[in-house]
Amino acid sequence: MSKNTTFSRRSVVKLGIQVPFTVAAVSVLAACDGGEEIALCADPNSLSFGENSIRQANKYTESSPEPENDCLNCAFFTPEPAGPDGEVPNCGHCSIFEGYASKNGYCDSWSTKDTGQG
Ligand code: SF4
Repeated sequence: MSKNTTFSRRSVVKLGIQVPFTVAAVSVLAACDGGEEIALCADPNSLSFGENSIRQANKYTESSPEPENDCLNCAFFTPEPAGPDGEVPNCGHCSIFEGYASKNGYCDSWSTKDTGQG
């Protein structure tokens, strides 16, 4: 049985938006003050100390400050297969965190997929 959890924008920001994911990767919606919602890939409260630490050390955020340098374009990101509508799900796998990350996310370990070869 899946369970959605809501977080206020303040609580997400308070956590630095640097503590998103868990191996279980439950999709979570965060309700914001203005009614806008932020989709999180996991309940930050279910992360282990180690999982939180690596995300904080890498300054992980659910929303990249540089849209062209988001997780979807990172060499360490593996997206979930696109759905019937062709849309790539928000949550994919980050090999640095060994867990889920948002396709729109970013951290200090971002690396281009472009090898410059070819
Ligand atoms: S290493 Fe890449 S995929 Fe993983 S969180 Fe950082 S930017 Fe996203």
